[in-house]
Amino acid sequence: MNDNGNHGDYEVFVSKDYFKFNAAHFIAYPGFRERLHGHNYRVAVRLRGDLGPEGYVVDFGDIKRATRAVCALMDERVLIPMNSKSLEIRVESGQVELTCEDGSRFSFPEADCVLLPIAHSSAEELAAYIAAGLRESMDVLPARPLLCLEVTVAEAPNQEARFRMDL
Ligand code: ZN
Repeated sequence: MNDNGNHGDYEVFVSKDYFKFNAAHFIAYPGFRERLHGHNYRVAVRLRGDLGPEGYVVDFGDIKRATRAVCALMDERVLIPMNSKSLEIRVESGQVELTCEDGSRFSFPEADCVLLPIAHSSAEELAAYIAAGLRESMDVLPARPLLCLEVTVAEAPNQEARFRMDL
């Protein structure tokens, strides 16, 4: 709780030009597979809560550092949804081999990929993954009087998914 008397429900929203990653992916689920393609993804972060004693919800600098780092992990990579039910994924000798339900096969250098603990590389699941990563990497969060964290991932202008988690 803050001690400056201005208790309430505050929100900070950060959406910098450098909150972005360019990545290749395809969505696959039983009976369906997209062709491999790419997006210039953009990310935004919203944190809701009460003020800390210094008058912040969370220092903008902490949000910017953590979000930039999580975007860098995925930039110029192929997004591999390791929990996919419809892809057979083998990581061997520095290569990631994907076999799809329809028999199509891909092989990428592991260094060109990011192996994600998600089932589909949809904007929705990416937003949830990024939110979990931010909660993990921002060690200031547990000490703050926060209510929720929201991450937006846009695949294209005006085409975005949001994920909210209570803190
Ligand atoms: Zn796509």
